[in-house]
Amino acid sequence: MKYYIDIKAQPNGDYEIHTKECTHLPIHKNIKYLGEFPNCKEALREAKKYYTEANGCYYCSSDCHEENFDI
Ligand SMILES: [Zn+2]
Repeated sequence: MKYYIDIKAQPNGDYEIHTKECTHLPIHKNIKYLGEFPNCKEALREAKKYYTEANGCYYCSSDCHEENFDI
């Protein structure tokens, strides 16, 4: 599966990763291609090299989605 990261932070500071097929994938100019990974955990590990606040999308990567209780 191809994974992308939203390079525009969410209001809570998270940078969400999405699969190519996610219906919540943001418009193209705000995403960065991460690469192909067998699962979201691998994609998240790569994403965290760039953005330590990376988080899985609630919709397409719920296994890797962490609720942020800092708000
Ligand atoms: Zn998504």
